[in-house]
Amino acid sequence: MRGVWRWRMVVALVVLVPLAARGGAVEKPRNIILIGWDGAQRNHVHECLDRGELPALKLLSEEGALVDIDVITGATDTKAGWSQILTGYHPQVTGVYSNGRYHDVAEGYSVFERLKKQFGPDQFVCAAVIGKSGHCGEIKPPFRKPLADAEKEEPAAKGKKAARQPGAGKRKVGKVEEENGVKFLVFGGSPYYTMHKSCDVWDYGLVLNEKVGSRAIQLLDQYKDKPFFFFVHFAEVDHSGHKHGENSKEYNDALISSDAWTGKIVAKLKELGLYDKTLVYVTADHGFNEGQTNHRYAPYVFLGTNDPEVRRAGMRQDITPTILARFGLDLAGIQPPLDGEPLIQPATKPVQKAPEKGGRAKEPGKGKGGRAKKKAA
Ligand SMILES: [Zn+2]
Repeated sequence: MRGVWRWRMVVALVVLVPLAARGGAVEKPRNIILIGWDGAQRNHVHECLDRGELPALKLLSEEGALVDIDVITGATDTKAGWSQILTGYHPQVTGVYSNGRYHDVAEGYSVFERLKKQFGPDQFVCAAVIGKSGHCGEIKPPFRKPLADAEKEEPAAKGKKAARQPGAGKRKVGKVEEENGVKFLVFGGSPYYTMHKSCDVWDYGLVLNEKVGSRAIQLLDQYKDKPFFFFVHFAEVDHSGHKHGENSKEYNDALISSDAWTGKIVAKLKELGLYDKTLVYVTADHGFNEGQTNHRYAPYVFLGTNDPEVRRAGMRQDITPTILARFGLDLAGIQPPLDGEPLIQPATKPVQKAPEKGGRAKEPGKGKGGRAKKKAA
C-alpha cells in the first residue's frame, strides 16, 4: 500500500505543481466574456502591442495566451465570422457562408443555447451587447409571403432612410421564388434570429464603442450574482477600416479604443470580485486587407485571453469549443459534432493556416476532400 501512496504523491506533484506554477489560473471558470474587435487585423494588433498601445490585451495575454487564429472556411466577413465563432461550425452546417449568403442558424447550435441547456435557463445568464446591426446583431425572422403582398407593404418603408453602416453593403431582403404560378418573397432569417431568443439580453446596433462598453459594464452590475456568458462586440475597428483604411490613424485609434473598453470591463470584473472566476477572450471575425478599405480576403486574426490553458493556435471554429470545454461541457455528446476543437488541448485534426493568396477561403469537402460530410441545416 505504501508504494501505491508514494506513487500517488508523485503523480499529484507532477500534475499539480506545474498548474500552480502558472499562477492565477482559473481552474474552472464561473463566467466567460467573449469580446469581439470586429475587423481587427492580426499584424496591426501586433504592431500596436509592440508600441504599447493595447495594455489591456497585453495584460490578458501575459496571464494567459495570445495565439493566431486563421479563417479557413467561410468568407472573411462579419456574418460568416461571428456565426462561426458563436457556433463552432463550418458554413455547411450553419448555412452562413458570407454577408450575402446565409439563413437563420438552426436552433440549439449556438454557444448561448448550449450553455443555457447545460446550466438551466434561470440559473445562467447569457447576454450579447453588439455594436453592429446589419451582419451582426440583426434578428429578422425568416418569412415567405406572396410577392404581391410584400410589394404592397413596400411604400411604408420608403422615406425611412436607414443609417448606413460602413462596409455593410446593400441589404438583400429576400429572393423571389415561384410556386404554382404565384411568386413568393422568401427570406431565410438573420443568422442570429433563433440564438438571440435564448439570451437574457440581446442589444445591438449600438455602433459606438463607448455605448457597447458602458452597456456591458452596466449589465455586469445587473447580473453579477449569477454565472454568465457575455458576448461584447465592438464595431469601431471595422467601421474605421472601411472609412479610412487599415493603415489609417482612425483604424489604429479604434483598436486603442477597443482595448481601453476591454480594460474597463476587466476593471469592472475586478471591482466586483469576479475577475478570478472569469475568463476573458478577445478575438475578431476577420482581419483587413493590408492598407485597404476592405476585408475581401483577410483571414488572419488572433485570440488574446487570460486563460492560461489556451496552448495552441487555431481556427475560427475553435472558439466556441474552447468556451464550452472550459465551462465543463462534454463535447463528445454534441450533435452535430463540432467542427472546431478546444484550444486547451492538442488538436486531433490538422490545424490549418489560411493561404497567403487565397482569394477566397476554401470550403472543406470541396476539391480533393470529396463531399462535405455534413448537410447544411
Ligand atoms: Zn467590415
